[in-house]
Amino acid sequence: MSEDVPESHPRHTSLVTRERIVEGVKRGLTSHAGLVAQGRGETFDYLLGERTIESAARAERAAAALMLGADHPVISVNGNVAALVPRAVGDLARATDADVEVNLFHRTEKRIERIAAHLRDNGVDKVKGLAGDATVPGLDHDRARVDADGIAAADVVLVPLEDGDRAAALAKTGKSEIVVDLNPLSRSAEAATVPVIDNVVRAIPAMTAHARSLAGRSDVELQGIAERVDADAAREYAERAIRSGDLR
Ligand code: ATP
Ligand code: MG
Repeated sequence: MSEDVPESHPRHTSLVTRERIVEGVKRGLTSHAGLVAQGRGETFDYLLGERTIESAARAERAAAALMLGADHPVISVNGNVAALVPRAVGDLARATDADVEVNLFHRTEKRIERIAAHLRDNGVDKVKGLAGDATVPGLDHDRARVDADGIAAADVVLVPLEDGDRAAALAKTGKSEIVVDLNPLSRSAEAATVPVIDNVVRAIPAMTAHARSLAGRSDVELQGIAERVDADAAREYAERAIRSGDLR
């Protein structure tokens, strides 16, 4: 349990985050594959120095601007996101007037219901994802399912920790896609309009803070901020930070 990890431990935040995923698996929110994904994420985060690098901070501001300027932004939530940042998802949804939709790679109705209940317990008012009455073209049946009045109708979708295939298929639909992924080389990050190479536990609260400070800006201003991010440059910056990282 997290209370057993002393705050003085150099990996305190990382260990607490890991425990939240383990807890998510125990509660039936997170899949076993989600554990492996977390491990991969930890590796990249370690190499990035477990901090938000400058290019990611810029991408987080751009992502907030993109969501604020959207007609219908949707935050896609999977088992890892639900275990790690349920409250922060609700805060971001309120700050950007976004829908929240549970969307699972390993889709089961039971897990969607559990995640939806967990999100509601953590202050997310309305949760989509159970309908699954529309599809993203180019994916096999279960992986393709989304809500017709949710992700299918969105103009901007935030997909933290998305599978590469699904991120690429969603990008092909012409929607703007914000991907949070610690691996700058992942296909998910490559598919993104705005890749946020950062840990979801830092990225989502940072996006909320940006959204709050950008509230009230005109659509033209928001568009300008969103467009200033160069996706290729953001991924390259992160890759350089990882390869040349000075961790101590
Ligand atoms: P792709 O198919 O996109 O090339 P992948 O198959 O390696 O990539 P998965 O293992 O399916 O990707 O998904 C895990 C991804 O999520 C990894 O890129 C990992 O770095 C990232 N990840 C895991 N935990 C976090 C986290 N807490 N915050 C941000 N990213 C994370
Ligand atoms: Mg991926």
